[in-house]
Amino acid sequence: MAQKDDCIFCKIARGDIPAEIIYEDDTVMAFPDINPATRVHVLIIPKEHYPTTMDVADENPAIAGAMMKAAVAVAREKNIEKSGYRLIINTNDDGGQEIYHVHMHLLGGERVGPLRTR
Ligand code: 5GP
Ligand code: ZN
Repeated sequence: MAQKDDCIFCKIARGDIPAEIIYEDDTVMAFPDINPATRVHVLIIPKEHYPTTMDVADENPAIAGAMMKAAVAVAREKNIEKSGYRLIINTNDDGGQEIYHVHMHLLGGERVGPLRTR
């Protein structure tokens, strides 16, 4: 799948919506989350439009490796690779996915806290 006209992350990938690009290679890019949950909160996206983790796994699983590689590069760039960080990919409703262009959250720069609260 290439890109979608009405998708916010496709617009960022095209440069139609400005974002501070922290990392970029042929297939993925990374930029700060507009509403950061932690001191470091970066989103890693494929440049091509895949709605969810399932679409990536079914159509181009190598993208997952590229996203992981980008996340590690960002963690090093932000000097949090030793202090630590959390990677999250929300999927569908119960996972809390709001934007249906697959993305990995990198959270760190402070203690991220429990994975889940009831
Ligand atoms: P989700 O809930 O889909 O996993 O996360 C979507 C994330 O995208 C949220 O953390 C939200 O703050 C972020 N976001 C939404 N719109 C924009 C935008 O226009 N630019 C950036 N940089 N982040 C956005
Ligand atoms: Zn998209």
